Amino acid sequence: MRLCRYDDDRLGVVRGDMVHDVTEAQTQIRAAAPYAMKGDAVIAALPAWRSRLEEMAAKAPGKPVSQVKLLSPVARPSKLVAAPTNYKAHIEEMAARAAAQNVKPSPAIGTAGLFLKANSSLVGPSEGVAIRFPERRNEHEVELAIIFGKQGSDIPREKALDYVIGYTIGLDMTARGPEDRSFRKSIDTYSVLGPWLVTADEIPDPDNVPLEISVNGEVKQNSNTKQLIYDCRKLIEWGSTFYTFYPGDVLYTGTPEGVSPVKPGDTMLARVDPIGEMSVSVRAHRAGG
Ligand code: MN
Repeated sequence: MRLCRYDDDRLGVVRGDMVHDVTEAQTQIRAAAPYAMKGDAVIAALPAWRSRLEEMAAKAPGKPVSQVKLLSPVARPSKLVAAPTNYKAHIEEMAARAAAQNVKPSPAIGTAGLFLKANSSLVGPSEGVAIRFPERRNEHEVELAIIFGKQGSDIPREKALDYVIGYTIGLDMTARGPEDRSFRKSIDTYSVLGPWLVTADEIPDPDNVPLEISVNGEVKQNSNTKQLIYDCRKLIEWGSTFYTFYPGDVLYTGTPEGVSPVKPGDTMLARVDPIGEMSVSVRAHRAGG
């Protein structure tokens, strides 16, 4: 099943190129969710609601995907976790840059650990990316993003995928510079998720998923999660020794080689075949806007 959030915080089931409105389910789920719960109530309720959502979608008239404003498929994650330096060829390209600038290269993931992106940086594809610090390199990083469906801590590798409700395309937008990753990668709009959540049953092996991004029609990154250094199960296992994951939590799995700068006026088109594609426009940030 493909689930999206769209327009003015509506919930939709995507079938083909149509969105079917199931917002009434979202309203009921949210009304019944205790304030003290951690994580996203709608994602937590998906397993129990799935068949009802399918029935509601079958009866709801469709609206073309191209005519809706796509938001992040998760409204309220408790955290956005991200893997740095998790593809060999990306580590090599960044090491070559560091050498040219005479600075220390970033260590590989086992030494670097995971990092957090601020929830306030999260947007959907239709909201676009607003560039701050245009004097710096502001780069796209296309990534497979894991969405957790239930609470888990100290999750063993063999059970890791049991905690995954689905996947989506992640853009880990990045302003390059000397500061801590979480500071530079938490700028408003620098965490994009979309175009929708594809439930895990449609992607039995997340470690063999092609991912691609083009900027203004030119392909910049084109790889496959087969190239991950820490694969999806290992990221979940390792991450859960530090963090409890809650329903709706997001894990950006890392980016392959080919990261490149974007500027206002550019259009990024990110594609992950088993999920779909999303177009994301880039604009300049305006103070106060
Ligand atoms: Mn990244």
